[in-house]
Amino acid sequence: MVIRGQATVVKHTGSHYLLSQLPEWKLFPAVLRGRIRLKGSTATNPVAVGDVVKFEAEVPEGCSAACDGGITPENPAVITEVMPRRNYIIRKSTNLSRQAHVIAANLDRAFIIATIDFPEVKLPFLDRILVTCEVYNIPATIVLNKVDLYRESHREMLEAFHEIYEGAGYPVMEVSALTGEGIDELREACRGCLSLFSGVSGVGKSSLIKALDPSLDPRVGEISDAHLQGRHTTTFYEMYALSSLGFIVDTPGLRGFGLVDLKKEEVALYFPEMLKASEGCRFTPCTHTHEPGCAVKEAVEAGEISYDRYSSYLGMLEEEGKYR
Ligand code: GDP
Ligand code: ZN
Repeated sequence: MVIRGQATVVKHTGSHYLLSQLPEWKLFPAVLRGRIRLKGSTATNPVAVGDVVKFEAEVPEGCSAACDGGITPENPAVITEVMPRRNYIIRKSTNLSRQAHVIAANLDRAFIIATIDFPEVKLPFLDRILVTCEVYNIPATIVLNKVDLYRESHREMLEAFHEIYEGAGYPVMEVSALTGEGIDELREACRGCLSLFSGVSGVGKSSLIKALDPSLDPRVGEISDAHLQGRHTTTFYEMYALSSLGFIVDTPGLRGFGLVDLKKEEVALYFPEMLKASEGCRFTPCTHTHEPGCAVKEAVEAGEISYDRYSSYLGMLEEEGKYR
């Protein structure tokens, strides 16, 4: 008999997928039927982790649900349709490549893991990631990990960081995977959501995921950036289920994720605090650089918009076009 249903892609390896009917976490294998193509997409993968898909499967008489065991690697379900995405994030296989790989779709929130020190946070890089989240329409929260290491020694920087980013509209959480501080709050923030975890290597992303749920081990199945450079190598993204109910997509490293093609006049649209202030600019469009009567520059001078954010913005204007 044939059963049909709808499920979410929780793992993607080459041409094989694992599906689950979330929030239930019972995985079953699936393959794509023929060539499903998303309209207007140049992505190398038409289906990604987080995609909601329709499937059908031929199962023995008596199996009524997808997770009854009738669907096996030898007899996988067939993905017949990909439902429209709420959002998705991509990465380029190389800086210059036009080909993109969809990392994940339908994300509720991105948690950007950073550390004030060990390693030292690079604000222009962080701002670029936040711009990417705005472009993809994914609400972002900044998670400062390892506060046990620098809360005392970098108190002023920590305060300034809160001021800059909360001022720009981003929640900032302080946590320590080592001491467990803030982990309950982070777990609560993940509850019931599909979250992206992102951060440069060394900030403690794996430690945090383990602290959220000790049964998870993000190191298993990790891939290096180098693997993504080859066209024919298998790319591999995976969703984790927290026992506290919530789903995490772990992105290995961030290279490529922060690069979006924006026109000069578009960049400021993705700095929420500048977008707001720009309503008062005399000219539209305004690049907020040399124009008279620029409300953004006035807000920077008045200290209402952080100078660090503004200088990240200027940096992005200069780099504009570089990655095309
Ligand atoms: P990832 O590369 O982002 O996945 O980082 P890891 O989870 O591998 O952590 C990198 C290093 O930082 C490891 O040596 C961890 O033990 C350490 N680390 C992670 N979280 C914390 C923390 O909250 N406090 C301290 N002191 N060290 C941490
Ligand atoms: Zn302006």
